[in-house]
Amino acid sequence: MVDRVFLEDRLLHLKGRRKAVVESLVDYGKSMPNPHSIYKVTEMLPSIEAAIKKIETDRENYGICEGCGCEIPDARLLIFPEANLCKKCQDIKEKQLNVQ
Ligand SMILES: [Zn+2]
Repeated sequence: MVDRVFLEDRLLHLKGRRKAVVESLVDYGKSMPNPHSIYKVTEMLPSIEAAIKKIETDRENYGICEGCGCEIPDARLLIFPEANLCKKCQDIKEKQLNVQ
């Protein structure tokens, strides 16, 4: 399922996303930001960087869920190219975070 064209497309998408995140950080810096939104934007960067690195250096493992090892569906990667968990594992993780 993980073909080269799909990966190149995701890579391009991730780099665009990274650029948008960095630009919005610059904008926020200029205009007295809501600290909460900065936090969320900054939080996105490491997962975007990790996904870019994975496609560039370890592409066989891109799209594999780090929680259960299943293949993350293409449809999910199209929306969240930086996803490293399948929907099921993501839900479990979010529940755990909410409990804390
Ligand atoms: Zn999973």
